[in-house]
Parts: sequence; C-alpha cells; structure tokens
Amino acid sequence: MEKRFGKNTVLKGLNFSVSPGERVTLIGPSGSGKTTILRLIMTLEELSGGFIFVGGQPLTHEERGGKRVALPGKRVRETTKRIGMVFQHFNLFPNMTVLENLVEAPIHVLGMSRPEAEEKARGLLDKVGLADKEGAHPTRLSGGQQQRVAIARALAMDPEILLLDEVTSALDPELVGDVLQVLRDIAAETDITMLIVTHEMQFARDVSQRVMMFDQGVILEDGPPEEIFTRPREERTQRFLSAVL
Ligand code: ATP
Repeated sequence: MEKRFGKNTVLKGLNFSVSPGERVTLIGPSGSGKTTILRLIMTLEELSGGFIFVGGQPLTHEERGGKRVALPGKRVRETTKRIGMVFQHFNLFPNMTVLENLVEAPIHVLGMSRPEAEEKARGLLDKVGLADKEGAHPTRLSGGQQQRVAIARALAMDPEILLLDEVTSALDPELVGDVLQVLRDIAAETDITMLIVTHEMQFARDVSQRVMMFDQGVILEDGPPEEIFTRPREERTQRFLSAVL
C-alpha cells in the first residue's frame, strides 16, 4: 500500500500482514507513518495506491480487469464495522452520557435492541472499572476515565480488530497505569487482533507478540519483542530505542 499527502509520500510500497488474534505494536520516530497506517485501516484516510484486506476481503478497493476499483461505501462499512479504534484524544461524544456513548453504534450500526445494548454496555463499564459513571458526561471524567470509556465503546461493537493509537500519550502519568491494565486484561482475555501504536515500551513488550519498527514510511524491522528490544539488527532501531527506553 501507498499513502501520499500531496507530494509527500508517507508510506512507501508497504507490504505486511497480521494474523487473526495477533497483537502487533508499531514503533518508530515521530512522523514515520504509524498513525497513518491505523487511520487508513479505519478508512479515516484514503489510500493513494495498493490495497488493504481485512479477513481476506478488500477494504476500500479491489482489482478488477487489471484496474484498481473503489468499492461502494456500503461494502466498505460492512468491513469497518468489524474494526474498532481508540484515539489519543478519546473522541467521545461530549453531549452524550457515558452509557449513550456506548450504545449509540451498537443500536444504530448493528441494529441491536436498546435493552440488549445497555446490558452489554454496563458489563463493559464494569470491566473497565467505571460501572458507577454510566450517567456522567465525559467532560466530568478524568482523562484516564475517558479513555477507559473509549475502550469500552470500541469493545461494545465486538470488533475483530482493535486499533490503538497512542491511547496513553495525552494522559497525566498517574492515569496511564489503569488504562494500560484494562488493555492488558483485554489482551489476556480475548482473541481480538490488535494493532498498537505506543511509546510505552514495557507495555508493548508485555502484550504484543510482534513489533514492527517504522522509519520514513517503511518497515525497518519486524519480529518478536524480545528480539527487537534486546537485539535490534538495525542501527536506526538501536538509536530509537536508546532515546525512548
Ligand atoms: P507520531 O508518533 O508523531 O504520531 P507517526 O509515526 O504516527 O508519528 P504519522 O502521524 O502517521 O506519523 O505521520 C506521517 C507523516 O504524514 C508525517 O510526515 C505527517 O506530517 C504526515 N501527515 C499525517 N497526516 C497528514 C495530513 N492529514 N495531511 C498532511 N500530512 C499528514
């Protein structure tokens, strides 16, 4: 796949695949294209060239008669329903209560009944330690609590794939631990495929089976965390890790 912003090619001939249930952390210097990859998979950015497949199905474009053809929006949405994303800045709906944030998409996108969606939402709020906050508005919550709501909201759609984009970067340091613990639990208890962009290297090491190091829009190294963190092959990876560890 390829992604350009104007004349700036930010992802170059990128080719990788992730197995179902695999948890992969994307690391690399600022501007290396990690967030752009997640946004492309979520279809928040348009791919400039190439293809993305989700569960074997083309996401936004397919090849037909030797040509690259855009798929209809309805078909794209069928696939994106299976993907959840959590953002650095939470992106909760500020005018809705916590519970409303969680039931909105299951009701309107999946066609779930309200009682069923609410029951599921309450179970998830309990899971992220916020059972008592269902009636609160997000602005009344701490950043860490908002992020746990955002994680619960993503899980309310029963995603097969979860994209986590620097979900602790905007938090005060003392709030990071709770959010990471929720994610560790999800990693341990579910088989959701996860693509994680993070600067929390210990967390990356603990939850992911694979680490991909990016630099300037290409994959520099790809391997198990023990290997990338302790015996990086590339000098660029060594330099990056010594700056962040
Ligand atoms: P960071 O850790 O700082 O978030 P990153 O590795 O996630 O970095 P991206 O955010 O994916 O990097 O950005 C990759 C490149 O694409 C950067 O050069 C950035 O300036 C550029 N870029 C990203 N989004 C846009 C946009 N909407 N318009 C123009 N350029 C963009």
